[in-house]
Amino acid sequence: KANRLFHPDDTIITVKGRKVGEGTISVMAGPCSVESEEQIVSIAKSVKESGATFLRGGAFKPRTSPYAFQGLGYEGLELLKIARKETGLPIVSELMSLEHLEAFEDVDIIQVGARNMQNFDLLRELGKIDKPILLKRGMSSTMQEFLMSAEYIMKEGNDKVILCERGIRTFETATRNTLDISCIPVLKQKSHLPIIVDPSHATGLSWTVEALTKAAIAAGADGVMIEVHNNPEEALCDGEQSITPEQFHKIMITVKKYAEFE
Ligand code: PEP
Ligand code: MN
Repeated sequence: KANRLFHPDDTIITVKGRKVGEGTISVMAGPCSVESEEQIVSIAKSVKESGATFLRGGAFKPRTSPYAFQGLGYEGLELLKIARKETGLPIVSELMSLEHLEAFEDVDIIQVGARNMQNFDLLRELGKIDKPILLKRGMSSTMQEFLMSAEYIMKEGNDKVILCERGIRTFETATRNTLDISCIPVLKQKSHLPIIVDPSHATGLSWTVEALTKAAIAAGADGVMIEVHNNPEEALCDGEQSITPEQFHKIMITVKKYAEFE
């Protein structure tokens, strides 16, 4: 179902009137984790002003260490909804467990994180609902495995899948992961699904975000997902890769010269 051979036309996914995959660039911006109402509302307002089209924010966080901040959970989802009400930006948040599915009913795009890309039970259940799914590529997954995970969702009837390249593990240690730019043209050739690039998780380094955002757009991505924090140094998660609202504003001015935005 994800194969372009059988579906030659690009898939366009409409979320609250915004179209992903239509030829314009979608920009999903926001903090790694929702931390407080003040934080998420202030970030939402500034990224909206700079031209973001979606607000991202983690409520349930997949952390390597069980002692690290695990997210605000249900409260985080409620705070995202407040920020959506204030700005009109549709919200994107990660679902880690089917136990929480009901609470995501009012989330506009459900994110499946890299660590759950092959959680087949989760994928199957998300295939049974009528909601866009942002499927992140597993950090050690081939493009074929990535597409097969999309297939798990689509097989059950949900064809609203957005692919997200977020960097893969390689021998290189200078960056957190390695952004696989080549997957953009390859996945576009093999599949009709929209593809979003997450430069923040790809390198883990805030100063690389601008260059890789440009590269993603130049390579044909349908959008980017960027971590933005009002105070990266104090962020409870992924501060090193988060850019400030001012840096985000500057990147948006630059990239608007390269592509058409919504
Ligand atoms: C995230 O988007 O905050 C995240 C945890 O990403 P990934 O699953 O790509 O590591
Ligand atoms: Mn993060």
